[in-house]
Amino acid sequence: MISPVLDNCFTPTLYRGKEWYWANGWPSCNHVPCPRWNYTLMTFIQINRDQLIEDLSAMIRCPSVNSFGTATQPGAEAAMANLYEYQMRQLDLEIGTRTVEPGRRNVWGTLKGSGSGPTVLLVGHLDTVGVDTYTEPFMPKVENGHIYGRGSCDMKAGLSAYLEVVRYFKRSGTLPRGDLILAGVVDEEHAMIGSKDFGKNGPKVDCAIVAEPSSLGISANHKGQMLMTIKTKGLAAHSSMPSSGRNAVYHMATVLKALQGYAEDLSSRHPNPICGSPSFSVGVIRGGDNACSVPDFCEIDIDRRTIPGETSASVIAEITAVLEAAKRTEPTLDYKLGPPFLDLPPLDTSPESRVMQAIVFACETVTGEAKIYGFPGSTDAPNFGCPTIICGPGELAQCHSLNEYVSIDQIEDAVRIYIHAILKMNS
Ligand SMILES: [Zn+2]
Repeated sequence: MISPVLDNCFTPTLYRGKEWYWANGWPSCNHVPCPRWNYTLMTFIQINRDQLIEDLSAMIRCPSVNSFGTATQPGAEAAMANLYEYQMRQLDLEIGTRTVEPGRRNVWGTLKGSGSGPTVLLVGHLDTVGVDTYTEPFMPKVENGHIYGRGSCDMKAGLSAYLEVVRYFKRSGTLPRGDLILAGVVDEEHAMIGSKDFGKNGPKVDCAIVAEPSSLGISANHKGQMLMTIKTKGLAAHSSMPSSGRNAVYHMATVLKALQGYAEDLSSRHPNPICGSPSFSVGVIRGGDNACSVPDFCEIDIDRRTIPGETSASVIAEITAVLEAAKRTEPTLDYKLGPPFLDLPPLDTSPESRVMQAIVFACETVTGEAKIYGFPGSTDAPNFGCPTIICGPGELAQCHSLNEYVSIDQIEDAVRIYIHAILKMNS
């Protein structure tokens, strides 16, 4: 029976290596078992490194390059979904799956909790970017404490860390009170249809951790991204008689001038403290088909990066207002702003959220520091419909590169961080 009086217990100190304990001696108190002492013991979480390397190597051997909207490689993630399902089945997890698009399915496994507590989701994407000119991308190589290969860092390391988290709970004989769900989702590198489906159709979770490579830093915020097309419509005519037509390219010039002003306004707008200012850029222009005709069409593709607080509707209203103002200066301007062909919301998780507090505590416990920053790119994280944070092994610089690798020590620390965070949320 544990006494409620804990004042003479050892108070867990931030873990900065075993040396601390050699220097300060092992703690003792009157409680057997002592909950605080048990907690301290857990800072020495032993990792099954060989198994971790084996799991990650199997994942690297399994090509899962995203098809990026082309029909030539449909369902490239299927083999990886099969593998992750197999690996989760080996751990006796309760398997769930949903096909998001033909040949592309999300897969998840549930470790039932021992009682009632928050349902925590550990989630990562199954797909990788392409491998053009990459030498032996699917041949895992272990060297100098690193594992090399496409997807090693972004983000199969995270998926393998999740498996070790489950193994730890099984080994320790102490399950978290709430359910723990591991999940692999498709299509993060393109339109994120996997995470969108998961957020919409469940299973329902209370919070999520995404192991995108952050060098074990913590991101609760990142920008969103909207890609849209704007078209101008003119009237075709022979270029020897331009006055009998309406030049859609000239009209686009009016639009571009207005949008350039809009981009400048955005960059000076009050920035979000973590994500900075929103931004706008025109990336593509197409118009006309030969030099001797007055073109009747022109179109541009635009990229608008959003910050927390902005919504798709507010951005569309803003751009429409800019275009309407341009139309007032050029009444014959006939434009059409298309719906977003990519619409990724910003990540805006509260610093007060339970998952954020838990991961900060866990990082401080395991690595001695909690580095909080805005994640540079867009990720699946905003799509899960619950407070979500990003924290994972691997450096962002290696992602998408032709020499992708991840530090095995960092994967081990990621496992410890997830275990501490889950226990904290269940305490
Ligand atoms: Zn990624």
